Amino acid sequence: MNVPFADLNLQYQTVKDEIDQAIASVIRDSAFIRGPYVDAFEHEFAEAIGVHHCVSCANGTDALYIAMRALGVTAGAEVITTAHSWVSTSSMITHSGADVVFCDTDARTFTIDPVAIENAITPRTVGIVPVHLYGQPADMDAIMAIARKHKLWVLEDCAQAHLARYREQQVGTFGDVATFSFYPGKNLGAMGDAGAIVTNDAALASRMAKIARHGGLTKHQHEIEGINSRLDGLQAAILSAKLRHLSDWTRARREAAAKYDAGLHQIEDLIVPYVASAREHVYHLYTIQHPRRDELAQHLNANGVQTAVNYPTALPFLQSYERLHLRPEQFPNAYRHQSRILSLPMFAEITPEQQSAVIDLVAKFGQS
Ligand SMILES: *Cc1c(COP(=O)(O)O)cnc(C)c1O
Repeated sequence: MNVPFADLNLQYQTVKDEIDQAIASVIRDSAFIRGPYVDAFEHEFAEAIGVHHCVSCANGTDALYIAMRALGVTAGAEVITTAHSWVSTSSMITHSGADVVFCDTDARTFTIDPVAIENAITPRTVGIVPVHLYGQPADMDAIMAIARKHKLWVLEDCAQAHLARYREQQVGTFGDVATFSFYPGKNLGAMGDAGAIVTNDAALASRMAKIARHGGLTKHQHEIEGINSRLDGLQAAILSAKLRHLSDWTRARREAAAKYDAGLHQIEDLIVPYVASAREHVYHLYTIQHPRRDELAQHLNANGVQTAVNYPTALPFLQSYERLHLRPEQFPNAYRHQSRILSLPMFAEITPEQQSAVIDLVAKFGQS
């Protein structure tokens, strides 16, 4: 049986009428840039997350950049983030003008270790960027306590964690500001690039909107030097249509994860995703650990099951950070995980039969 890593076309088929209608409306109205569809999505998304303001933008990477510029990050400042994430999290800290300071992850959740944050703080530290990696919230109580104590801002990178919850509270509502990606493969995905930033701070929202739109909200009034980072009308209308299904899709992902957990947790040498107490994981990725990761991946791929490694090199060890001369001993968990993690097929429409096929193949590998 073939089991793809994800199946975007299958998702499209389940909501085809709504998507096609949304696209046709935008074309009929020529509402390609800004306009009613973008305004509507911003309102709907703010409501879905439970915040006052949503500023849409071109992608989740720009969202990080715009948020940090609006927070007033300057050269010489230090911003703390996790050693284990997609590269945008740290590269945008650098592009905002600050120095990136990496922290090791928790051994079990893959999210930033609050103890490491405390140890990394210096007089130059201005903010923390936790990432709700794979869809599991970072330890927000501990992180917010550290931020309050040291008067730091917090930017939550929610690119993988739409609707995830920590102590019943949705991610994106803890920090000063939070960023989302709607890259097609994300839990809420557009049909192209798209992103958003949310906050309860009206002044911050206004600064972010200006930065994203050439530095001003009124034509020819450029109050600051901004960039062009807009959500286009087609993507907005598509996202509005899909947002109505996000709760159902999230539930389906969580059910699929439970089925994987039940089938895989007793297999020797294999570690299923650990979910810390009071955290609701939304499984953007279902990532196991195995000491023979590459062999297991090969075995699955040879038998029709697609897998992925998210990510093969932890951020401090990427070529782009050679200048920082960081060593494995400084990030023991992130370093150990990078050679052990393997993401299994995970999407809302995955069938029990497909999951059983994956589980059987992994079990057979364990006996080999
Ligand atoms: C996907 C992702 C981003 C970047 O989003 P794009 O829309 O692809 O630019 C940033 N951070 C994390 C953790 C991501 O997974």
